[in-house]
Amino acid sequence: MKADVTFLGSGTSHGVPMIGCTCAVCRSTDPRDRRSRPSVHVAVENGPAILIDTSTDLRHQALANSISRVDAILFTHSHADHIMGLDDVRRFNVMQGGDIPAYADERTADDLRRTFSYIFNPPSEKGGGIPQLALSTISGSFNIGPVGIQPVAIFHGKRSILGYRLGNFAYLTDCNRVPDESWPLLDGLDVLVLGALRHRPHPTHFTVAEALAVVERARPRQCYLTHICHDLPHAETNAALPGGVELAYDGLVVTIDAASASADKSGDGWK
Ligand SMILES: [Zn+2]
Ligand SMILES: [Zn+2]
Ligand SMILES: [Zn+2]
Repeated sequence: MKADVTFLGSGTSHGVPMIGCTCAVCRSTDPRDRRSRPSVHVAVENGPAILIDTSTDLRHQALANSISRVDAILFTHSHADHIMGLDDVRRFNVMQGGDIPAYADERTADDLRRTFSYIFNPPSEKGGGIPQLALSTISGSFNIGPVGIQPVAIFHGKRSILGYRLGNFAYLTDCNRVPDESWPLLDGLDVLVLGALRHRPHPTHFTVAEALAVVERARPRQCYLTHICHDLPHAETNAALPGGVELAYDGLVVTIDAASASADKSGDGWK
């Protein structure tokens, strides 16, 4: 079950360039140094198009990458850089008709209902319309059509948030520790996407060196680092990374196999 993963955004919460910053990376003319807020779009061949997070930059990202379908949304956590584009899913509602299923852990679902109370507790007068979502709280693996989704618990500072595994691909964005029970879920990956903020330590994100230690242990065939701040110039940082590890950049497309051994295959002919 082939799928194209598009990196809609590879930047940290401020984006790169940062407002008002004149550093070399923020002034760089290399398009790979322009990083919007973190999100990926997973388009399964003859299957669903799955958006992971609704970043602050969703509208611009959808236009830049010709995204015309979102059949389901997976939320990693409720920090602003991962959810603030939620209102833009209205366009997908209009184009596709009907609710879009969305999935989050309990805390993130609660935060979404509070932050976007106009969506989940709509006012009587709607004006320009509101996103139509069917938000589910998840606690274990589930399916979106034929695609098996395995949530992967990771630590983002003290907070436990979710990464996701689909087939041989895993997306772990804001992370500074992988708990013992999640390591087996990272076995046998072809493609691991892992957050790596910068070289200097941070209380809630892996540094590049810490991310490389995860790669050493999980041994994916290929790793892409994401959620990158303006400390890391793309070309120079990428050249110094070990084989099989690269910095992601906005617009990068990677082909994966979204089929998991345990998932129900009865969804053939989905849509
Ligand atoms: Zn973030
Ligand atoms: Zn800068
Ligand atoms: Zn975060």
